[in-house]
Amino acid sequence: MPKTQAPRYAKSSRAFVRAKKLLPGGVNSPVRAYRSVGRDPIFITRGRGAFVTDLDGRRYVDYVGSYGPLILGHAPSTVIKAVAQAARRGTSFGMPTQAESELAEMVIDALPSIEKVRFVNSGTEATMSAIRLARAVTGRSRIVKCTGGYHGHADALLAEAGSGAATCGVPGSAGVPTTAIADTLLVPFNDLAAMTKLFAQQGEKIACIAIEPVAGNMGCVPPAPGYLQGLRRLATRHGALLLFDEVMTGFRVAYGGAQTLYGVKPDITCLGKVIGGGLPCAAYGASREIMSSVAPDGPMYQAGTLSGNPLAMAAGLATLRVLRDGKAYRRLERASARLARGLDAAARSAGVPVHLSRVGSMICPFFHAGPVRNYEDARQSDTNAFTKFFGAMIDAGIVLPPSQYETWFVSTAHEDRVIDRTIDAAARAFEAVRD
Ligand code: PLP
Repeated sequence: MPKTQAPRYAKSSRAFVRAKKLLPGGVNSPVRAYRSVGRDPIFITRGRGAFVTDLDGRRYVDYVGSYGPLILGHAPSTVIKAVAQAARRGTSFGMPTQAESELAEMVIDALPSIEKVRFVNSGTEATMSAIRLARAVTGRSRIVKCTGGYHGHADALLAEAGSGAATCGVPGSAGVPTTAIADTLLVPFNDLAAMTKLFAQQGEKIACIAIEPVAGNMGCVPPAPGYLQGLRRLATRHGALLLFDEVMTGFRVAYGGAQTLYGVKPDITCLGKVIGGGLPCAAYGASREIMSSVAPDGPMYQAGTLSGNPLAMAAGLATLRVLRDGKAYRRLERASARLARGLDAAARSAGVPVHLSRVGSMICPFFHAGPVRNYEDARQSDTNAFTKFFGAMIDAGIVLPPSQYETWFVSTAHEDRVIDRTIDAAARAFEAVRD
């Protein structure tokens, strides 16, 4: 147990000792190990609504939300019922089911850029496949991504990635051959001039711009006015494709994703997280013409034993049915605005420089006076202050993503009293940071 760890976390700490003997770092995804906040992770036994409970029986308000999928909170009854019903009929067939077409119809109705969709199991698979598709369609090999943009852990996309890679201070990854990233070009987010210059130099070699329309893996950074529109124009002018990685933003910032919110139509869209309602599911989609390159219709090969899994389809369908009428987004907006206002006021009153960034129910308080327009700005944040804040919050029963470079997620289960409890805890945590 680290010196800072109080006895109230004893069972989690013992579980972590065991896990570390069995799993690299004791976890199955690096950021969960809490390395950047210098303490042992809490082990979770259950979640309900806005709350999770740990092995020691402590209950927390949760803003991790499984890193985005849980827009309806933990274990919403509609989703649980749908998954249980599907499981009773069989968990996987390797043959088509109608649920795949039902979810495809909902996705196509929701996202203006998608006429056909392929379901996969993770966001990483979606972006990796979408890049392959962009290269197949254009016959070009180079791709552009933003520094601090995270698109999963496929080799070509692990250059200067955000999220856990940023948290662990890993600019790329061991094991990625230089040849795998030789065609990956990097520019800062929100810097249209840099992108324009890059296209002027090598536009005819670029297959696609791969971008999170709202950068959510360097904290939460919204696109500057006109930025996404500028990317759209550049890509079109140079015969490149615009690939929106909406794994985080799809069905999160709006039912139709960031492309609806900002009115910009990409050529290829990646989805994940919310679309699977908490089960492993992701997707990539595009126009009929672009998707005609995907096997078996076309020459771009991509496959998956568990793709379109019936439990994941059931969870996704149940989630999107709740979200479809828009009421949930109004509720999320109200709750998230209340939280952002409260955090901002609490930081000001404690005299801690914080730049509060928010797009819908994605929130990030940067320990930085601002502005935060890109990864380079985000890196100026005071991560020691974040660590102190994180510790004070978890001790007060509020669990946050354990890194300055992750986004907090509000769910429809975060009622006003839960938000207000968070703001009260934050007021004390900001004071602890100041002192
Ligand atoms: N793309 C974005 C924007 C993400 O935020 C993530 C994960 O956080 C991914 C891709 C990778 O998704 P997964 O973790 O499901 O592989």
